Amino acid sequence: MATGTLTIDLDAIAANWRALDKASASGVQTAGVVKADAYGLGAGRVARALARAGARRFFVAASEEGAAVRQALGPGPQICILSGHMAGDTEMIGDLDLTPMLNSLEQVTRHLESLPGHAFGVQLDTGMNRLGMEEAEWEAAAPFVLDAGPELLMSHLACADEPDHPMNEAQLAAFHAMTDGTGVPRSLAATGGILLGPRYHFDLTRPGIGLYGGRPYEGALRVVSLSLPVIQTREVGPGEFVGYSCGWEAEAPSLVATVQGGYADGLLRGLSNNAVLWDGDTPCPLIGRVSMDLITVDISHLAEVPRHLDILGPHQGPDDLADAAGTIGYEMLTGLGARYGRRYLEGGA
Ligand SMILES: *Cc1c(COP(=O)(O)O)cnc(C)c1O
Repeated sequence: MATGTLTIDLDAIAANWRALDKASASGVQTAGVVKADAYGLGAGRVARALARAGARRFFVAASEEGAAVRQALGPGPQICILSGHMAGDTEMIGDLDLTPMLNSLEQVTRHLESLPGHAFGVQLDTGMNRLGMEEAEWEAAAPFVLDAGPELLMSHLACADEPDHPMNEAQLAAFHAMTDGTGVPRSLAATGGILLGPRYHFDLTRPGIGLYGGRPYEGALRVVSLSLPVIQTREVGPGEFVGYSCGWEAEAPSLVATVQGGYADGLLRGLSNNAVLWDGDTPCPLIGRVSMDLITVDISHLAEVPRHLDILGPHQGPDDLADAAGTIGYEMLTGLGARYGRRYLEGGA
């Protein structure tokens, strides 16, 4: 096989969900965030695994993603749409029983006029200035919106991955001010917010990255491994160069493996000359530039030429690779390409 193999451990995702569920009190519901195709890992498979683990509510970014998750899960579980009720989505929201988190007066009007009586939530802006109704807008709208019976009031923390950041307390206070006394179930915490402690948990938490083994949830089980086939090897003498722009120069006689997988597969070009692949427990440096389909690796120190080298696995998670590329685990995961063969582990298999 000439493409890499991405292995996704659904049991590990389910275990991470259970652990994050246990991190809040038993009366607090724990959802699963499966937007962006479950952070690149496959929304259908992941949502089904989370549902089997006990998740009853899911969040996606857009109605189209909600439709795919509904198809995977069937009727029953609640599927919430973070972008709310956009023009053109009414039929999908109605027919597939999706629950939009309404972000503006415009969306509130659209929803209540086009689907009266259909479930909705409201997203409030507590300082991130990205999605949701601002304080003044909410003050004006709250009387009739609350009258229409929202089933959730939610907001999102901008700095939850920095526990000491003053923005956390400021957003918590703003959320209380906007929602206390409404009697409506509330949600403020994603993965980072869960780790900030019970004052941030309210009635429902919304973990995403923590399910998939990423920071800031340091206790997560590893979820993905990525194994790349060695296409060919060559001996390179001192003074010879490897790859585009002669990005690496051999100082000693070296054995170089050319490995399938490049920036078109999400192996960011920032990893050039700056990452490690693994042959079992032995690290092998990536040398030269990452190109579209290929990377080159120094395997001079190996006793045998391996058939594969691992770039994600027990020794190196998405955050480690992200650090090397100057980005975050979220971007690394969601960028994993469509060319990999995908293998799902489930039921201890
Ligand atoms: C993406 C997102 C989440 C999940 O965040 P993680 O940091 O991945 O846990 C939760 N809520 C909202 C509004 C989001 O946009």
